Amino acid sequence: MVFLSRKAVAAAAVIVLLAAAFSAGAWAVFMPAESTGLAVVIDPGHGGWDGGVTVGGVKESELNLELAKTLARELEQRGIAVVMTREEDVALGETKRSDMEARANIIESARAECVVSIHLNSFPSQPSRRGVQVFYDDTGRGGALASALQSRLNARINAAHCGRSDLQPQPGDLYITKCSDLPSVIVECGFLSNADDRRLLGQKSYRKELCGAIADALEELLT
Ligand SMILES: [Zn+2]
Repeated sequence: MVFLSRKAVAAAAVIVLLAAAFSAGAWAVFMPAESTGLAVVIDPGHGGWDGGVTVGGVKESELNLELAKTLARELEQRGIAVVMTREEDVALGETKRSDMEARANIIESARAECVVSIHLNSFPSQPSRRGVQVFYDDTGRGGALASALQSRLNARINAAHCGRSDLQPQPGDLYITKCSDLPSVIVECGFLSNADDRRLLGQKSYRKELCGAIADALEELLT
């Protein structure tokens, strides 16, 4: 029998994670400098032929990817490994179904603690609606994570930037949040249909602030 130090166990866990992720065809794995042994799957929504919504010249798939990469860096700095489902502006399949199944395969193989899918909201009939909102599937395992994440984002981001601290996590029928046994949420990082949210999301400093708040919350909730 070989006894491994906690650090060695963490390093071994990361190696297993890397092997699993690469065999599943994951696009990128960010290696933390000082590993906690924890891992998160980040899923930048849409990509390629599926651009998501486009408002005011801002294409959701591109901004999702930018936000996802920022979140990956923030998690990496906290010693949390990241598996990305995509790293370029491409779809993972020729149809919506095959694209989603490819993402599910990566999630299934990643051996991570949770899944965070990054999207942007749009509600053109009510352009005053804004803020960061967390979604989960009520048949999946994301409810507790969604509530904990939403309350922290209300305190750190929504209260400071749009005067709201009462946004509630929203249940829905969401494939990506129920395609595995992992606690899984979608973070809708703001409303593209709201000019103020669009302006904020265009700022690198705000994207870093938002993703830092998500990473702090995940670090607190996972460790
Ligand atoms: Zn979307």
